[in-house]
Order: sequence, then C-alpha cells, then structure tokens
Amino acid sequence: MPQRIPKHLSRRHSAETRALAIEPAHVQWFVNQVEAWYKEQGRSFPWRKPGMSLYQLLIIELLLQRTRAETVNRFHAGFFLHYPDWNSLARANRMDLEAALKPFGLYRRRAKVFQILASAVVGTGGELPRSVEDLGALPGLGPYMVNAVLMYRDGAPVPLLDGGVARVLERFFGPRELVDIRDDPYLHCLEERILELSKEPSEINWGIIDISALICMKNITHCHLCVLSKKCPNNRYGLS
Ligand code: SF4
Repeated sequence: MPQRIPKHLSRRHSAETRALAIEPAHVQWFVNQVEAWYKEQGRSFPWRKPGMSLYQLLIIELLLQRTRAETVNRFHAGFFLHYPDWNSLARANRMDLEAALKPFGLYRRRAKVFQILASAVVGTGGELPRSVEDLGALPGLGPYMVNAVLMYRDGAPVPLLDGGVARVLERFFGPRELVDIRDDPYLHCLEERILELSKEPSEINWGIIDISALICMKNITHCHLCVLSKKCPNNRYGLS
C-alpha cells in the first residue's frame, strides 16, 4: 500500500516547488535592480559601515525589530556611551537601563530581555557562540537575529526576513504559504535563491529592507518610484 505523505510535508514541497519554478532570469533581474538601487539610494546608517562591535550590531538589530531605523540612529550613540559592552549591560542598574532605553520605546521589556541576554553571553565568556544551534539557544535570539549575527560576523549569505521584506517579496513574486514567515517554505526558498544570485549578501538584504521602508510600505506604495515596477504584478501605476 502506498505510503501517504504527511500533509505539512506535501505543503512544504509544493511551496518550494513554486519558489523553484520562478525563472532564474526573473530572480536575477530582481537582484540586479535592488542591488543597483541600494548603491544609489539605499539608506546610510553607521551600523552598515565598518567599525561597530558585534555587541553593538546585535543590540541595534534587536532595537530595529520594533523601532524605526531613524530613531535608532538618533539615539544609539548615547546608549552605547553608557553601555559599551555585554559586561556593562549585564551589570546595569535596571532603572537606569530602562531610562536609557526610553527613547526607543518598549523600554521595560527591552531592559529585561537585554539583561537576560547579556548575562547569558557573559556567563559563557563574553563571546557569542559560533554555531547556529548555540546562537539560537541564547535568550531573545530568534532566526532573524541568528542570521543577523552570521551576516555581520561571518559575511554569511543569509536572509534578514522580516515582515517588510516578506511584503516586497510577496508583492513581486507571489504570496507566502503560511501565516508565520519564520516557517514559510516559499519565502525561505525564494530568499535562498536571491542570496545565491546576489554579489553582496548584506547589500541585497538592506536593499530589500529599504524598499520596504521607503517605497513598498504596508499601506502606501510609491510604485512610480520603485525599481521593481517594470516587472511587478502589483505595480499600481501600470508599466513604467
Ligand atoms: S512596484 Fe509597487 S507593489 Fe511592486 S514592489 Fe514596487 S512599490 Fe511594491
């Protein structure tokens, strides 16, 4: 009797097949457009240039998850003046830490999460673990943050897939399979293909992030300004 494939596996398979069926030239066009646009018009932030420690980059990425990049840019230097490393964060007075985090919002929750994470890192010698599994086991680090560490530290070709990035990909390439993007096989397979074709992993990630923040927003789409408009099925302004 033929064995039945579990439903979730068959769904995964069909989602990956859908992502793999997209013409390589179409994916390459997307990559070329985003990379060229990013070089000309991408946002310039200190954390996108050399010079910051991995500690600072990780804290900034955690802040960026719920706070606008412009706000993080405005206040991050002051925060790092008081808390320059994992040790100072782990030893911080909670009320002082909350006050320092107030400009970013969600300060109580963030103070708690940051201190738990800092204590865990200090407890293992002050260095972030090398392996993906050990990084993912640190408190407060989900798949996005693990990938951020791999990208900044190792230059690894890994995606930074958040809600905004997913929106751009779905509008250009078609809808996801699952509600939760962290588990979505279509978006993950698509991101793998994009990263494979990109010359610079960080720039393609930041390029898509910037398009999602500046042009292809949740409720407003500036399709007339978008480098993807020529081939985007959701271009609201017709072919440019
Ligand atoms: S053309 Fe419009 S809908 Fe398509 S990716 Fe650009 S801004 Fe978004």
